[in-house]
Amino acid sequence: MRQRLAVGNWKMHGNLPENRSLLDAVVAGVAGLQRAACAVCVPFPYLAQAQSALAGSKVAWGAQNVSQHPKGAFTGEVSAAMLLEFGCRYVLVGHSERRQLFGEDDATVAAKAKALLAAGLTPIVCVGETLAEREGNITEQVVGRQVAAAADALGADGLAASVMAYEPVWAIGTGKTASPEQAQAVHAFIRGLLAGRDRKMAGSVQILYGGSVKASNAAELFAKADVDGGLIGGASLVAGEFIAICKAADVA
Ligand code: PEP
Repeated sequence: MRQRLAVGNWKMHGNLPENRSLLDAVVAGVAGLQRAACAVCVPFPYLAQAQSALAGSKVAWGAQNVSQHPKGAFTGEVSAAMLLEFGCRYVLVGHSERRQLFGEDDATVAAKAKALLAAGLTPIVCVGETLAEREGNITEQVVGRQVAAAADALGADGLAASVMAYEPVWAIGTGKTASPEQAQAVHAFIRGLLAGRDRKMAGSVQILYGGSVKASNAAELFAKADVDGGLIGGASLVAGEFIAICKAADVA
């Protein structure tokens, strides 16, 4: 039985006072979770604040990016070891905004995930197709390529220590959510690909859905057999929404 997981992706939002109220509200709001886990991935400068506000609570924290390099002359980059020093547990890699706006390719995404695993952190490996790719009926081809690149680099043990996130690009920040059936179809496809590598690993890897998840649609998405929770952008910035989503994940 896979544990459900709800992860907030704050993207480049926040400031110290607003973060404090959001984090305090989330800590209080999810204190009663019985089964699900939850986390927030905050901008780098707020990791210390997240660590001090969340330590000892039910909310884990993490980052939205990492360098694939361990150290060196890489101005502006942040290493996995640095994230570990701030108590991070989860780190996003391959978010579509990184792929589209910052030119990250499958090989870079895989190298970042490897660097995280080597440091003992949990990569959340994001995959997903654009609207043109879905309309061109190549969703499985695109997602298959992205998953295969991660699987080739990480191997079954690495994948077993990772989380996958299916995030159709057309659903991110657009208010358009994949239907539960659309999400389930791609999640089952991903799990099938993983099963082709290692059946036991495939049965245990959490696959999150991301793309305009809200309090109002979380329960129906999370009810699908291969949807193990959500990666939440906009709604994670609103305490009541994020808490309700975490509670929707906290079902038997
Ligand atoms: C995301 O940024 O990963 C995301 C899913 O955003 P949103 O929930 O706002 O669509």
